[in-house]
Amino acid sequence: MNPGFLQTPIAYLKGVGPNRAETLQSELGIHVYQDLLNLFPNRYIDKTKYHKINELQKSNADVQVIGKIVHLKTVAQKRGSRLVAKFVDDTGEMELVWFRSQKWIRENLKLNIPYVVFGRTNWYSGMFSMPHPEMELLTEHEKNLKVGMQPVYPSTEKLGNKGITNRVIGKLMQQLFLETKGKFQETLSDKLSYELKLLPKNESLFNIHFPKNQELLAKARFRLKFEELFYIQLQLIAKNMLHKQKIKGFNFDQVGTLFNAFYANHLPFELTGAQKRVIKEIRADLGSNAQMNRLLQGDVGSGKTIVAVMTMLLAMDNSFQACLMAPTEILANQHYQGISKLLEGTGVSCKLLTGSVKKSARKPIHEQLEDGTLHILIGTHALLEDKVKFKNLGLAIIDEQHRFGVAQRSKLWHKNDYPPHILVMTATPIPRTLAMSLYGDLDISVIDELPPGRKPIKTVHRYDGNRLKVFGFIRDEIKKGRQIYIVYPLIQESEALDYKDLMDGYESIARDFPQPEFQISIVHGKMKPPDKDYEMERFVSGKTQIMVATTVIEVGVNVPNASVMIIESAERFGLSQLHQLRGRVGRGADQSFCILMTSHKLSNEAKTRLETMVRTNDGFEIAEVDLKLRGPGDIMGTQQSGILNLKIADIVKDNEILKSARYYAMQLLKDDPSLEKPENLAMRHAYAQLIKYKNIWNYIS
Ligand code: ADP
Ligand code: MG
Repeated sequence: MNPGFLQTPIAYLKGVGPNRAETLQSELGIHVYQDLLNLFPNRYIDKTKYHKINELQKSNADVQVIGKIVHLKTVAQKRGSRLVAKFVDDTGEMELVWFRSQKWIRENLKLNIPYVVFGRTNWYSGMFSMPHPEMELLTEHEKNLKVGMQPVYPSTEKLGNKGITNRVIGKLMQQLFLETKGKFQETLSDKLSYELKLLPKNESLFNIHFPKNQELLAKARFRLKFEELFYIQLQLIAKNMLHKQKIKGFNFDQVGTLFNAFYANHLPFELTGAQKRVIKEIRADLGSNAQMNRLLQGDVGSGKTIVAVMTMLLAMDNSFQACLMAPTEILANQHYQGISKLLEGTGVSCKLLTGSVKKSARKPIHEQLEDGTLHILIGTHALLEDKVKFKNLGLAIIDEQHRFGVAQRSKLWHKNDYPPHILVMTATPIPRTLAMSLYGDLDISVIDELPPGRKPIKTVHRYDGNRLKVFGFIRDEIKKGRQIYIVYPLIQESEALDYKDLMDGYESIARDFPQPEFQISIVHGKMKPPDKDYEMERFVSGKTQIMVATTVIEVGVNVPNASVMIIESAERFGLSQLHQLRGRVGRGADQSFCILMTSHKLSNEAKTRLETMVRTNDGFEIAEVDLKLRGPGDIMGTQQSGILNLKIADIVKDNEILKSARYYAMQLLKDDPSLEKPENLAMRHAYAQLIKYKNIWNYIS
């Protein structure tokens, strides 16, 4: 089959036409034959099984039952009526129910003659009923060809309204196989197919749409999932390799006096093994002649800042400037404070640029950046303004990557004649599975070890009714000299209500913790940045003991003396957010606590989230649970990624297949980077097709 044939517009397929084509396009994204071929069933109905009525389960499954109608009646109801048949087999009875076409059915149904009925059962006041069953006389049924597994395709309301039912899709699929004779180009090499015992492409496509039996269906699914993940990985890895060849980077080949002097004289603590390893990985990138594009993952408190600082020193050692961009003013500020302190006595100059830096203060910053006397610039989005021009930007570090879009990343990139090395730091633990698929084109370093001496945070779940006890606990901790966070949810849709909750909470806390013995800070989104900073500063410097806040403090804020994190309405937070919030404590030497306050009304999912938080402090474990609960679509930063458009593979469930696909893609490209070898011809063609017709890069980055 000429592969171009599959690019025929779907309107040309017999049985489609312009009207249906439009609906197929808008509802299912089917533009050409190929798209229909790749519309894979969501599930299959097993029609090889016949159920006895007394075996039926209350779980609303699709079932097939043989029996007779012994009685037929019309029952009046609020609006109109329903037709009810009493249907029996030798084990029991159930009801068949119709709301539409009652007249026709009444006239055509035969009593006391065996039928095969098929449909979804409901358990309703002590009896199973099946609304609008598919029905066939047993004698007819036995004559017909048996369809073992009937595919159920994705559907939408509009498709239904336009008469494009599952049956119609099935028919179109048959037509497609007829027109193509079921012959499709093989897309994987013989070697790979042999090694992995994969079903050939033709058989896979046939069995996914018209499964002969369970076993072949399973094989078809495996093969198609593998193929899908394999080609995504192939493209990501190829892109990464290409990037390394083409995009030359500044070569930081000097490990010079600044880095070494800092290591010898200014390091405030011994680096952890993981920090050392990650710095080595970064150094290898910087000296490789290619532009670095690295994601640095490390749980909250794992010590990413020092890695950032040492990377910046490498830039200085090679006579380049560096910048660090943070998502909020508070964070940029903290970074600035912390990093300036680390750099004391090194001779490196460092300044802060955020939206609230005054015009008069900006001018010297701009000038010193341009003449190169300013080495490091830390700030927010303000760094992206056109006025900000570096003399020689060699390194851009982006903290908390998920707050920045790709467009912003590339804007930084264009600040200079050559792209700076890029280090993206994130505390959002992205499960490896997902990271592999989403950021296959970035290199990844992981700090998977916390600095020594940290005591794991104790986490408990308390109901609102126990508030007095919790307040008592807070009082004791404050007496010991500790500080407390109390966090309220803030969700856009209910902003006004949330704000009220926060204020009510604040008032009741202020009553229980009166001045002058207790001092309370409050920070929320409605405050002006300078007011926020003022309140933050009071808390950071220990002037206040309690910080009441919305989630603005979620990211990065570092107050080692704070040892208690109380999260109000914790059931309303997502797992990754809860974990981020908890990471605000446990930064000092003292035992820290996280108290999750909730009402008694909890969904199962909320319960799982709370239990997970209480059970573990491990960000990656939490991220895995999160991924399982919500699927990849809701994990931050994945919205625009192609991974959501997977046709058959499931990023969570097919983790093992993904790993294997990545492994084989890597092997292939190592062995034959441009897929020139004759044995890889099939894959070269498939790859070229993919690039030609569906450029995955467009939707991955
Ligand atoms: P994050 O990865 O969340 O940005 P930070 O870089 O803010 O973490 O580090 C958290 C805290 O741990 C800081 O107070 C920092 O000084 C401290 N820290 C970092 N690395 C080490 C280490 N190797 N030994 C001891 N303390 C460390
Ligand atoms: Mg940090």
